[in-house]
Amino acid sequence: MSTSKKAVDILNKDDQIVITGAGGFIGGSLARYFSEQGFTNLRAVDKKPLVEWYQRIPGVESLSLDLSHRDNCRRAAEGAVEVYNLAADMGGMGFIENFRVECLRSILINTHMLEAAYQAGAERYLFSSSACAYNIQLQQDPNVRALKETDAYPAFPERGYGWEKLMSEIFCQEYYAERGMKTFIPRFHNVYGPHGTWDGGREKAPAALSRKVISAVDNGDLQIEIWGDGSQTRSFMYIADCVLGIDQIMHCDDLVATPINLGSSELISINDLVTMIEEIAEVELTRNYKLDAPRGVAGRNSDNTMIKQVLDWEPDIPLRQGMQNTYTWIEQQYQDRKAGKRTVS
Ligand code: NAD
Repeated sequence: MSTSKKAVDILNKDDQIVITGAGGFIGGSLARYFSEQGFTNLRAVDKKPLVEWYQRIPGVESLSLDLSHRDNCRRAAEGAVEVYNLAADMGGMGFIENFRVECLRSILINTHMLEAAYQAGAERYLFSSSACAYNIQLQQDPNVRALKETDAYPAFPERGYGWEKLMSEIFCQEYYAERGMKTFIPRFHNVYGPHGTWDGGREKAPAALSRKVISAVDNGDLQIEIWGDGSQTRSFMYIADCVLGIDQIMHCDDLVATPINLGSSELISINDLVTMIEEIAEVELTRNYKLDAPRGVAGRNSDNTMIKQVLDWEPDIPLRQGMQNTYTWIEQQYQDRKAGKRTVS
């Protein structure tokens, strides 16, 4: 077991940190996290116009650039000591199953960002991989065995999105093997929390179900539509655990070029997640199951043996606690939208 280190233990406060996808959920939260730690040279990059960013952090250089283009990646990586690549065309199951070409095209972002980081002399590079890189044949049962890092091979990942993640992982591994740039490859398992997408088609289950409950309560029509039969199981990691995990993985030399799970191991079915949200909202809804909707694999959980061994840590913020915060934030967004104010999605 190695002692876990963080950016504050290794970097100078004025080292250039670049975060891509920072107009979105995890990238924006990571920019806030580093800003709160006192880092003064943060560059946030996203293809969305600045007014559409989920979070704008004061004092952070914010650039609107499409990183599927090589020259924009060069501009983004200028002077970088560390690059966190969180940019990708992504969303929940509804998006991933219907827009496979868009998901695959994210390979351009990672390919150009890696090269730009290498050319800029960056010391460390992090790629946001996903549990969707795992072999889907191991995820056919709601009572799944949790997925461990070796379960990505033989390769049979999620079509589109999962293949892009797996291929980009390989790029990261070869940039270390052949060129010596230290790369880090956390495989995130469903991340949720405030400042994430909650409407519009790219939202994931915790946000989508919270919004549906809030809307049912607001409309007085006490029903909820659930995708699939609700028996599918997942684990969900709260955003604060995610950014802390990213920081620790990026600064652990035992994990160079090594894919590692970054997820919660608290497994829950979608039906039980709905019950949890109903309890938070103090309401009980009639459930309508949409059996032909995208539902993803039957079950998926994170085996945290490796992260516990290497970092002596695992994401452990209880789902009930994180969902309370998330629900409260989405409820405020919902009310803000009704009042004609600008919201995240
Ligand atoms: P998000 O959609 O909120 O953020 C991604 C951001 O990338 C968006 O703001 C988007 O505008 C930006 N982007 C897309 N294409 C771009 C381009 N060509 N150039 C520049 N920016 C571009 O998603 P997120 O939840 O914050 O996810 C961040 C990363 O984590 C992604 O790589 C995603 O695949 C990965 N991931 C997320 C989860 C999760 O549950 N949220 C799970 C597994 C992996």
